[in-house]
This record gives sequence, structure tokens and C-alpha cells, in this order.
Amino acid sequence: MFIEKVRHEITLKAAFLIFFMTSLATIIRPLMIEQSVVLTYVGIFNSLALGCVFVYLKYAKPKSWHSLLFVSVGLIVLAPITFVSGGINSQFAYIFPIVPIFIALVSNAKYTWLTGFTIVILVVSLYSSIGFFPDLTNENVSQNKTASRALWMCIAVLMATKLGVEFNRIYSALGNKISEQAETDLLTGLNNRRSVMPFLQAAVDQTKSKNSKLSLMMIDLDHFKAVNDNHGHLAGDLCLKQVAQLIKQNVRHASDMAGRYGGEEFIVVIKDIDAKKATDIANNIRTTIEQTTICLNDRKELNVTVTIGICTLNGDQLTSIEHLIDSADQALYQGKKAGRNRVVEV
Ligand code: GH3
Ligand code: MG
Ligand code: MG
Repeated sequence: MFIEKVRHEITLKAAFLIFFMTSLATIIRPLMIEQSVVLTYVGIFNSLALGCVFVYLKYAKPKSWHSLLFVSVGLIVLAPITFVSGGINSQFAYIFPIVPIFIALVSNAKYTWLTGFTIVILVVSLYSSIGFFPDLTNENVSQNKTASRALWMCIAVLMATKLGVEFNRIYSALGNKISEQAETDLLTGLNNRRSVMPFLQAAVDQTKSKNSKLSLMMIDLDHFKAVNDNHGHLAGDLCLKQVAQLIKQNVRHASDMAGRYGGEEFIVVIKDIDAKKATDIANNIRTTIEQTTICLNDRKELNVTVTIGICTLNGDQLTSIEHLIDSADQALYQGKKAGRNRVVEV
């Protein structure tokens, strides 16, 4: 989400810059050099088209294809003026190698290659069409120089594309790593609260719209303070790690989610099954933990138990995430009061 916002901002800035530069060139160029009035008309048309794209991007809801829309319009608009202002010798051609780099910055590798090859085709067409379109700049450049410029432009565009793709690969990998770390609990490797809450919110919305069922478990280790007091905090950490794995094993990976809610409390979200089946899963988790011997570093062994509060609601009973968590919490509290190592359902 964050990266999408940044990409949209970059696209907007680039769209404004190109609109501004085109408008400026349209106004300033006729004042500086004598040129055909056709170039001025084309410039005015281009400025208007780019202005429209900028306004659309500014007020429309951000979409991933917006950067391609902007670049496509930019190239469509730039191509005719490049053809009539000297083809590959036109000053407008200098902008070509920047385009794939821009796409790499705001999009993916596939679109970067697509843009790079489209520009190479454009460069080849510009070179091949010498003599076909009038050169309104009336500048004379030798055929040899034009051929070498076309060749070097293709090389520059392909190099820029490859660099862009590599850059995209590095920052995508970095972005994925950062978001993975931000969503994972360091100690247990489970989802942390930051990632469980949006998942839970999406599950609540989905359950309401489909009028299906949603179950939420709050799992709390029993007398965990005593584990820390008797065996030390490192042993407590090891214990939390192993309990987290036991919880994860009992949860469907594709549809459900297990996370660490905080301290020695875990949360499990289960979609689309009835209350009885959800309670069976809770009981499986509880008995697995009870029956598993936790190995501590100093070869000591330990058995722990958990108390689980579970709440299953239909879409029409669900009001909010808080309502669901609060209900499961109350069930957990009742379980603790009733002697721990049990599952209580509300
Ligand atoms: P109850 O059965 O009522 O839940 O008793 P309890 O001792 O588990 O509950 P209490 O809330 O009194 O204690 C929770 C303990 O969990 C206290 C805290 O030191 C420990 N704890 C919380 N997070 C961690 C952690 O990351 N590592 C370790 N080692 N201990 C933790
Ligand atoms: Mg607790
Ligand atoms: Mg506890």
C-alpha cells in the first residue's frame, strides 16, 4: 500500500514535469529559433494532451496501470513531433533512455522490458523514415551521423532498460523483506498483531457480505510467569516459540491465520466453519500443547498448558473486530477462572 502511494506520487511528479517542459518548449522555442508554425500547433496539442493526463492522474483513484497510461500517452504525443523535428536527430529523442528507468521505478520488470523494446522500435522507425517525413527544423545532419546516433540510442535505451530491471529487482526484494519483517513476530515467527488485525478486518467484512461464519480464538499460556520465574526468561522464550509452532500446525495455512497477540497470548482466526468444528480445532490445539514436552536448552523438559476462549459468529451477528475479540477474551477469562487448561466457547 505504502509503495503504491509512493509510485503514484512519482508518476504524478513525472506527468507534471513532462507537461511543464512540453508547454515551456512550445512557448520558448518559436521565440529562440525560426521554426514552422506546424511545430507550434503540435506543441500546443501535446501540452493539452499531457495536461489532461496529469489532471486525470491527480484526481482519479490510483491504479497500477496509470504509469503505463502516462508513458503511452507521452510516447504517442512525443512521436509525431520527433518525426517532424529531425527524427532520431531531434532533441526530443534525448528523453528516450529515461523512459524505461522511470517505468522500472514505478512499475515491474515486465513493463520495463515492454517499454524498452517499444522505444527501440520507435528509434528504428525514426531512422527508417528519414526522407519520408519532412524535417521542419531544416537542420542538415549527415546520413552516417544519423545511423550512428540511431545505433547508440538503441544501445542507450537497452542499457537503461537492463539497469532499470536490475534496480527494480533489488528494491522489490528489499521491499518484500521489509514488509515480511514488519509483519512477523521476531521471537515466534508467527504473524504479529500488525498483520493479524488487517486480516481480521478483511475476514469480518467478508463474513458480513457472504453471511458466513467467523471464529476467533484467544489462547493464553497458563501460569507462564512461573515458567519465567523457575527457568529464566530464555527458557520462557523457547517455550513460547515451541507453543507457537504447535498452534500453527493446527491451523489451515491457506484460509486461516495464527498470530501472536502480545506477551504469552496468541490469536487464531478461522473462516467459514461452524462453531462445533471451530471448538474441535481449539481442543486439538489445547491437547497437542498439553501432550507435547517442551525441551529447554539445559536438557530440562517442561510441560505447559493453555486456556482458550473461542467465539464463532454469523455475518449478521458480527458488529466489529472489537466485539469479536472482546467475546473471545471473556470466554478466556471464564476458562482461567474455571481452573485453566480448557476451551471455553461463547
Ligand atoms: P495466567 O494463567 O493467569 O495467564 O497466568 P500467567 O502467569 O500466564 O499470567 P501473567 O499475565 O501473570 O504473566 C504473563 C507472563 O508472560 C509475564 C511475562 O513476563 C511473560 N511474558 C510475556 N511476554 C514474554 C516473552 O516474550 N518472553 C518471555 N520469556 N516471557 C514473556
Ligand atoms: Mg496473558
Ligand atoms: Mg498466561
